[in-house]
Amino acid sequence: MKKKVIYPGTFDPITNGHLDIIKRAADMFDEVIIAVAASPSKNTLFTLDERVKFVADVTHSLPNVTAKGFAGLMVDFAKQEQANVLIRGLRTTVDFEYEFGLTNMYRRLMPGLESVFLTPAEEYAFLSSTIVREVAIHGGDVTSFVPEVVAKALMAKAKI
Ligand code: ADP
Repeated sequence: MKKKVIYPGTFDPITNGHLDIIKRAADMFDEVIIAVAASPSKNTLFTLDERVKFVADVTHSLPNVTAKGFAGLMVDFAKQEQANVLIRGLRTTVDFEYEFGLTNMYRRLMPGLESVFLTPAEEYAFLSSTIVREVAIHGGDVTSFVPEVVAKALMAKAKI
């Protein structure tokens, strides 16, 4: 049976750390869906359409990876997409605490969904979209932390 996995997140914006996890998942599974959450409560810097487009652009060379936006419950989207494995990235023990809580909730909501945690290369262990946004907004250089198209978009936002 083909293994279809879902990697959900806000991706505001996608970083090289996310990309590292995506490449690992694409090597391990048949099909990877990057599920970009609308996250209305997060007051995102980029719109859902922009965030989905960045993910699609930077994963273009990975044939088994697709970017899709979704609103509402992640488990409902996983069911709709018929994905039965969930991918999450683990950077540090701080992530572990949060992810462990989420996993238990997901298991209640969708018992058939198994969670798989992947760790990035160590250079990305302290990289987050939040830090990248903060640095960019204050005029810092983020080119080594995000794909080129994202760095350009961040610089454009910083000028506004
Ligand atoms: P969310 O709002 O769901 O936390 P994010 O876009 O911040 O969305 O993160 C999505 C997933 O990617 C989470 O599992 C997060 O731990 C993981 N992640 C984020 N940044 C990195 C990174 N630098 N390395 C590995 N995993 C990461």
